[in-house]
Amino acid sequence: MDILRPLPQPTPEAKPYWDGLREDKLMLPRCRQCRRAFFYPRVLCPFCHASDIEWFQASGRGRLYSFEILHQQFNRAFKVKLPCVLAMVELEEGPRLLSNLVGVEPDPAKIRCDTPVEVVFEKLTDELTLPLFRPAGGGR
Ligand SMILES: [Zn+2]
Repeated sequence: MDILRPLPQPTPEAKPYWDGLREDKLMLPRCRQCRRAFFYPRVLCPFCHASDIEWFQASGRGRLYSFEILHQQFNRAFKVKLPCVLAMVELEEGPRLLSNLVGVEPDPAKIRCDTPVEVVFEKLTDELTLPLFRPAGGGR
């Protein structure tokens, strides 16, 4: 990872995604031909290769598909407290998103795959907000 440019550099096809996050909305691209949602944003549908893409607001709900506890700072520019939970979240709409799981102890014994999760928006700068996830309902 390039530590000189710690913040994501939005590409034109991902602009609606970053714009949505600034307004606390998780936006996903969807193909108008086969109607499937996908992630990451790209100009062609990964399923049918159509270029007819639209954006919609996702529910922000999903489930924990897989996770990993991070103990080492992989990028000094990120001020995430360690250890933290790197999480692959499978959204209700289908796509998987790599994020962090928050609101839980970073203990593998206390985290279960398939746990329902919901998005929380973490504002980093005026330009950049990241979608993080927590157990649905704010945890138990
Ligand atoms: Zn398609």
